[in-house]
Amino acid sequence: MKLNPLQNDRAAGVLVALAAGDALGAGYEFGPPLPDGADVIMKGGGPFGFAPAEWTDDTSMAVPIAQALLTSASGDGSSSPAALTMVVRAWTSWATEAKDVGAQTSSVIAAARRLAAAAGRSKVHAADFSAAAADFHARTGRSAGNGSLMRTAPLALAYLDREPGELMAAAGVMSALTHADPDAQEACGLWCVAIRNAVLTGRLDFRAGLTLLPAERASVWLERIETAERSRPRDFTRNGWVVEAFQGAWSAIHYAGLSASGPARLRAALEEAVRGGRDTDTVAAIAGGLVGAAYGYTAVPFEWRRRLHGWPCMRTRDLMTLGMELGRGEGRRSTSWPRAGRHDYSMWSRTDALVQHPHDDGVWLGGVGSLGRVAELGIDAVVSLCRLGTLDVPAVAAEDHATFWVVDSHVVGDNAHAGFVLREAAAAVERFRSEGKTVLLHCVRAESRTPTVAALYGASVAGVSPLEALEDVRRVLPNARPNRLFMQVLAEAVTTTDPAAGGATRAGAQ
Ligand SMILES: [Mg+2]
Repeated sequence: MKLNPLQNDRAAGVLVALAAGDALGAGYEFGPPLPDGADVIMKGGGPFGFAPAEWTDDTSMAVPIAQALLTSASGDGSSSPAALTMVVRAWTSWATEAKDVGAQTSSVIAAARRLAAAAGRSKVHAADFSAAAADFHARTGRSAGNGSLMRTAPLALAYLDREPGELMAAAGVMSALTHADPDAQEACGLWCVAIRNAVLTGRLDFRAGLTLLPAERASVWLERIETAERSRPRDFTRNGWVVEAFQGAWSAIHYAGLSASGPARLRAALEEAVRGGRDTDTVAAIAGGLVGAAYGYTAVPFEWRRRLHGWPCMRTRDLMTLGMELGRGEGRRSTSWPRAGRHDYSMWSRTDALVQHPHDDGVWLGGVGSLGRVAELGIDAVVSLCRLGTLDVPAVAAEDHATFWVVDSHVVGDNAHAGFVLREAAAAVERFRSEGKTVLLHCVRAESRTPTVAALYGASVAGVSPLEALEDVRRVLPNARPNRLFMQVLAEAVTTTDPAAGGATRAGAQ
């Protein structure tokens, strides 16, 4: 469906924040709860030895859902049997090389392969999975692990333009490929409906989804939700169970919302989820899918996006692209951003500006035309404030290319979190400089976005106000004219300056 810029941002945020929560929790999996305020970082390690910022099974199982639905979205509808078969084949292939396959999922995959082999087929079908999962449930009576809720988020993006009831039903079917227990199916349905609602409206609301359940089940889930809202993630000691994983994730989001909003709430929620302990990556991944839907891609901190990676050889940009394309429902669009190789700026004039920052000659300020001079100038880190094609990305290491979504516009509704994103971009410049790198900070013409971020950075390093720093930037970039909204961001950074906090930019970032 046609998404407005904020809905687009939120669709793009679902998989990125899911993966960020997953990678954040990976290093703490099966550990005890952590005290309030304890640092939570993408340190990697944990029981399965993940690399720092590497995601785990939660994201690796969510990606095939997104890919299959994206393929079917341009064909015969959303979660068709053909799409489900694509999903289970990708899971089967992933499981042969994965570091961590959940016990229930692993058992169902093995049983499904046996069913396929018995039928003389070399490849599994979705029906093999659902039969194996139903059998697992019938034999054990316990198939309500959290393994279907952790991966379910992308399904919601394929149902933005459909009735929530259809999504609820499809989520149950997707869950039952491995997790047939009604608790698992209902948890996936409620979570997906909340994600759909969040992408469309920006609001977090579970209660709307409850009306789609039979009254008796709705009251069970309402009580579970209310318990979560009176609790902290650490209170849910059995969070390998789908119900407590659901409650842990919702309590993290709810608790974070008591003291934070916007991007700060997204961050606080995922840190709170991890501090809850035990199945940290999964609870944070579940929470991430929903807060990403509510606050968007632009709310995910750069330090989390920077090195995020995992199976199948993907990085943040790939997840952003998948989420956005799934939300649009037009399949893969290889000729438009963000999948296109080149983003065409040929109709723009004056894109070749390139000057050194007045406060730091290790920072170059430029237009998009300056990307061609990266190698010549010895630039080894790039901060991009405009859209680029996949081949326009300069020849620096992927983790040293910071990209920010910020539209040069003062119109409400064009940027979800303009101030946050501009400050994040300035912090990225500062981070690269602290690593000894020479930085190019650029947008299209270096007239609005680049001078704004350059002023925030300059204020921090020169100890002047951002508006004073902007005057210095204007001496080297005479065409610098930040739009009204960006000027307001600079002015507010001045008014919130606290010298004790170490500089205008940092103080403004609170
Ligand atoms: Mg995991």
